[in-house]
Amino acid sequence: MLQTTQWAPDTCQCRVSYSWDDADPDDQRVYSLVAIDTRCSRHASMLIGDTHFAQIMEENARKNKALGRLEATQPQLFAVAGDGSFLGQWRFDAGHTLRFTLPGIGTTGKNQFLNWCNSNLGIGTVAID
Ligand SMILES: [Zn+2]
Repeated sequence: MLQTTQWAPDTCQCRVSYSWDDADPDDQRVYSLVAIDTRCSRHASMLIGDTHFAQIMEENARKNKALGRLEATQPQLFAVAGDGSFLGQWRFDAGHTLRFTLPGIGTTGKNQFLNWCNSNLGIGTVAID
């Protein structure tokens, strides 16, 4: 059955509605844009429609994959107690680059993370401040 979800990504202030079929397995779901309810200032100049939807989906997935990589390789960046929250910071700059602050991580660890990001998420799509 076709479902409609209103999505407020944690990567920006955009709000969109998309549809998906709950008969499809999780890993085969196709998300189709229904409506863009709000566009944030960083995405305000993008073409309305699938281009914008693809951009915010990509940014959210990129952030999740990068955080997943950090959790696997630099577990000290995540709180041991409570919700395991990230102890560093991330943000997207005006050019849609994902920028991290990684307290306590040395040059080697930063370079290893950036190399992984360049190989897996796109060259130059992630930076460390
Ligand atoms: Zn946005």
